[in-house]
Amino acid sequence: YAKGQGRSRYHIFDTSLRYEQIVRFHHELALNHCLERDELQLLYQPIYSTEKNRVVIVEALLRWYKDHQQLVSPAEFIPVAEETGLIIPIGDWVIRQVCRDLPLLQRKYGNRIRIAVNISRIQLDDPDFIYRLNQILAEEQVDASYIDLEITESVATSNAVEEQSSLLKLRDQGYTISLDDFGTGYSSLSMLTRLPIDKIKIDRSFVTQMNPPVLKALITMAEALNLQVVAEGIEDQEQWDRLVELGYKEFQGYWFSYPMPACNLPDLDHLSPA
Ligand code: C2E
Ligand code: MG
Ligand code: MG
Ligand code: MG
Repeated sequence: YAKGQGRSRYHIFDTSLRYEQIVRFHHELALNHCLERDELQLLYQPIYSTEKNRVVIVEALLRWYKDHQQLVSPAEFIPVAEETGLIIPIGDWVIRQVCRDLPLLQRKYGNRIRIAVNISRIQLDDPDFIYRLNQILAEEQVDASYIDLEITESVATSNAVEEQSSLLKLRDQGYTISLDDFGTGYSSLSMLTRLPIDKIKIDRSFVTQMNPPVLKALITMAEALNLQVVAEGIEDQEQWDRLVELGYKEFQGYWFSYPMPACNLPDLDHLSPA
């Protein structure tokens, strides 16, 4: 009896594992064609400044409509794109697309609006990345000062001297460098002084937990290091109010807007904390 049960458990485990592998394999095959089939779309989510009373940045968030119908989340397909190297052409597409959407975003939020783009480590490690990035911006006639590059801590924790030097180069050329999801993963405080970054995005988990001493310590530290701060994942007015009290100035989250196609973004010019 026990043996039989063990075997059936094994079977369940085994099929679900294979199912996942099959899904992944399908993604991998289908992702190869996402660009030529025009299946990618960029949504944008505003980052609102309480100090300036306006939207100061919009973050580009990638969506894949597999076979033009099934929406696959970036958490699912970005890792596949990274493993296969497809993140390189996909990343180039993202950069070109944000350049093309910039005029529309400027009409909505004013000429000073900037766009934040997520950059994966594979892109940053590509020796031609900076050249192509500059090339695309030149072709689309967009200045580097309009672009924030969001890197994650996995990029930033690398000791690779090349990565640090490419971040330095990018910064010298006028890009803003943001450290995304700060406080999750393998973060270390020394990173903040070691890396050439301009900005940290405090991970949503800190906003959800809402521990005032921790949030206060984070902003105090960032200010002491001359780093700008964005709080991620604000979902209600109360979270916003409390973060404003604690000294936070830039906010992103569903409370302000869900990620949306550029043409559908809200104005947000009526907003104020309580
Ligand atoms: P991220 O860069 O940290 O982006 C923020 C994520 O939080 C987005 O998920 C966004 O939809 C979600 N979010 C924003 N506000 C709220 C909120 O108030 N509550 C909750 N629960 N969630 C909120 P999304 O769009 O699914 O993207 C997931 C991740 O995929 C991104 O995290 C980023 O790391 C990656 N990603 C997205 N687009 C790209 C891309 O073009 N290139 C690369 N390399 N990675 C990308
Ligand atoms: Mg991001
Ligand atoms: Mg983030
Ligand atoms: Mg995040």
